[in-house]
Formats: sequence, C-alpha cells, structure tokens
Amino acid sequence: MPQDNEALIKAEHLKIYFKRKTGTTHAVDDVSFEIKRGETFGIVGESGCGKSTLGLSLIRLMTDPATRMEGNVYFHGKNILDLKGKELKEMRMKAQVIFQDPSASLNPRRTIRQILMEPFEIHGLKNSPDLEKRIEELILMVGLDTYHLSRYPHELSGGQKQRVGIARALAMDPELIVCDEAVSALDVSVQAQVLNLLQDLKAKLGLTYIFISHNLNVVYQVSDRVAVMYLGNIMEIATYDQLYARRMHPYTQALLSAIPQVDKNERVERIRLEGDVPSPNNPPPGCRFHTRCSKCMEICKSVKPELREVEPDHFVACHLYDDAQ
Ligand code: SF4
Repeated sequence: MPQDNEALIKAEHLKIYFKRKTGTTHAVDDVSFEIKRGETFGIVGESGCGKSTLGLSLIRLMTDPATRMEGNVYFHGKNILDLKGKELKEMRMKAQVIFQDPSASLNPRRTIRQILMEPFEIHGLKNSPDLEKRIEELILMVGLDTYHLSRYPHELSGGQKQRVGIARALAMDPELIVCDEAVSALDVSVQAQVLNLLQDLKAKLGLTYIFISHNLNVVYQVSDRVAVMYLGNIMEIATYDQLYARRMHPYTQALLSAIPQVDKNERVERIRLEGDVPSPNNPPPGCRFHTRCSKCMEICKSVKPELREVEPDHFVACHLYDDAQ
C-alpha cells in the first residue's frame, strides 16, 4: 500500500457496495491508498468503474441509503466512517466538492450571493460580521465580478456557473476538494480556463485535490499522481512522469494508447479493448480485467492480484509483475 508521512487521506481496505432487492453492486472492492497533502490525485476509469463513488466516499458524501461501507478512511488521523455530529460537520467544512453539472448544482431561484451564503447558513455562520466582504472575496477569487452576485444562475454561462460552484466550495476555507467530473460538461476552451483557475487556486491556497474524470487526457494534464480504476478496483497508481515513461498495467496501456500523444515523435500503437465491462453486480473472479486482457494467464482467472509497489511510488495490480521488487 502507498505510504507517506504527509498523507492527508489514507484509505485502508475500503469496500463500498449498494445493497438492493435486485442484488448487491460492488462499486469499490477493497482498495487501499494514500493521498498526499498538496497533491492533485487523479482518479480515472470508464463510466461505472466506481471512481465517483470512491471519491465522494472519501469525504462521506454518499447520500444513497443503500450504500454500505467497510474498511477505514483516515482524514487528519481520524477514521471518518466513525464521525458523527459536530466532528462530522467539522470534517465537511475541511473537505468540499465541485460537481459536474453546474446548472443542476445551483438553485435557480437564488441569486449568486444567496448561493454563496448557503455554506455559511449550513454551518451557522450567516451572522458573521465580515460575511459580505467574504462573499465578494470569493467571487473575485474565481475570476468573476461583484456585479455577478445579484445575477441568477440562468443569466450566467456554463463556465461562469462552474466558477460559482468553485467559489461555493471555497467558502469554508477547505483543505481538500473533490472535483467530480468538474470540467466534463464544459466546452474544450472553457475547460482549459477552469483547469487553469483550479491550478492557480491550488497554488495560492495550498489545496489538495481529488480529480475524478473519465477523460484520461484531462486527468493526465492536471494530476501529480493518477489512480486507474477498473470495475471497482485500482489497477495502477503512478506519477504523471511514470505513466508517461512506463505505464505497466495492460488496462492503463490501453487507456493511454487512445489519447493523442503529447510528444508527436512518440508513436504508440492503439490498443483496442474487446468486449464490454462486466457488471459490477456479478464481477469476474481473479483479476477483474481478465475477461478483456490480451495478456491474461491462467492464474489471472482465479487469483486477484494485489496492488503492489513495483518501483518507488509506482503501484500495480497485475500478475505480470508478481516477481518485481
Ligand atoms: Fe491481465 Fe492478468 Fe494482469 Fe489482469 S493480472 S491485467 S488479466 S495479465
């Protein structure tokens, strides 16, 4: 398991599943890793791989009553799965989220000023003497102007609405922000502006991000380290440089072969994955990727590979590297 003394989040054998009458969905199946303070930790994978479930669970934001969680998630050394009442509220001030669809996450009947006041209302701080000053500070911090405060969401563009979503996430002065497909609904040019804003805010405020996306190109651009997920399992965790120079897991190799190369001199053959992702209600035994892996061996069909450190700070769950130190 990844180890670091500066870890802000540490997940140990985390399992998340949804228990319904129709069966149990294994959304996240026994994952362990750490997120370092001040880094952008990308989580990437195909739709339905469990990346959003994992990211939101790390800050106890799963609202589905069918959700069951096992294992431990430490934030500031406390297991957040045990937190209640005041302690849970305090943790939620320090850990915020930016959602994918800014239109759906902003109340259309409230002005931007009222929307930015919501976190202060929730946390019993709406009578703070400096509230108006703080609201103005927040809107300027995300590149909008104070006149936007009297507007309604429908009067703003998609990019402006997402900036309001970011300002709201910053209101409680958090340490950690989960960006859940935060730029996926935006046009490519607006995407780049919002990504730049997130990078600037991270540097200025010393934030830690968990950046979730199905778009490996975007995750690759902004992340210090990337976790590649497949069917509820983490297949590989590596730094940007490691993924660029030596992607090891067959699934990561396939994902990366599909994105335009940054270095035009590098020619990578496109690896096409055959078949569909199996259902998380009935995942295959052994390596969950074995039904689609061109390098599948006999052992892969019955023995689940552990996520192991195969070179410094580079973790892979694949039997091809069982003998690696
Ligand atoms: Fe492929 Fe086996 Fe590695 Fe899974 S463990 S990725 S099936 S080689």
